[in-house]
Amino acid sequence: MKVNMPTRPRIRIPDLLLAELIAHAAQEHPLECCGLLAGIVTPGACEVTVRIPLTNHLKREDEFESDPAEMLAAHRRMRREGLEMLAVYHSHPASEPVPSRKDRLRSIDERVACVIVGPTGDVRMWWLLSAHEQTEANWETK
Ligand SMILES: [Zn+2]
Repeated sequence: MKVNMPTRPRIRIPDLLLAELIAHAAQEHPLECCGLLAGIVTPGACEVTVRIPLTNHLKREDEFESDPAEMLAAHRRMRREGLEMLAVYHSHPASEPVPSRKDRLRSIDERVACVIVGPTGDVRMWWLLSAHEQTEANWETK
């Protein structure tokens, strides 16, 4: 029997941070970029307040892995500033911004959204529920 998932919060991201995220993907093209979105969880929404770009140390066009030292520094910063990790973002330089099987498998926490920038700068956001299941996130700019 399928258990109903609780309603997931809407993600709200400032226009400027979304534009920076898309610019990051363009700058790394044809390699995949990666980074984090952090902020505050309120009763109705995940409010993104900070973008933390990371280095894809694989330097690949079809896969990413965040530089471990930068990831550690990002976690320290979020803890210091009282922020929660809301999303991991990366780009798909040559394919639709839809999670791959690898993206689902490597998802660390289903409460952390997966944000993907496609080849034309189109952004989609997802909740990765398991290795086989994903659902598109509700989100808006502010
Ligand atoms: Zn991917």
